[in-house]
Amino acid sequence: MRLEEKLFLDTYRVETTPHIKIIQPDLCLKCQHHQCTFVCPVDVYKWDENQRKIVVGWENCFETGTCLVACSEFNNIDMIYPRGGYGISYKFG
Ligand code: SF4
Repeated sequence: MRLEEKLFLDTYRVETTPHIKIIQPDLCLKCQHHQCTFVCPVDVYKWDENQRKIVVGWENCFETGTCLVACSEFNNIDMIYPRGGYGISYKFG
């Protein structure tokens, strides 16, 4: 089974409030590579050139925590896990 087929089997229940936020949006202006936009497997983070900030699509989060590692230079991402019953449910781990 291909990865895309496995991911399609996962389900999630979207929380009512964001569980991810950028702590200081202005710090992202100093971040040279915006690596959070490359490492997330489901593209939660996007650089908006018009607004000059990271836009967070937290509703799609697969809770991998990859973004926290990627932002180790600035530690500018605040992520908690959604409360019980919300967030991703993996079918095959
Ligand atoms: S990696 Fe961190 S500091 Fe850099 S753009 Fe993403 S959230 Fe901002």
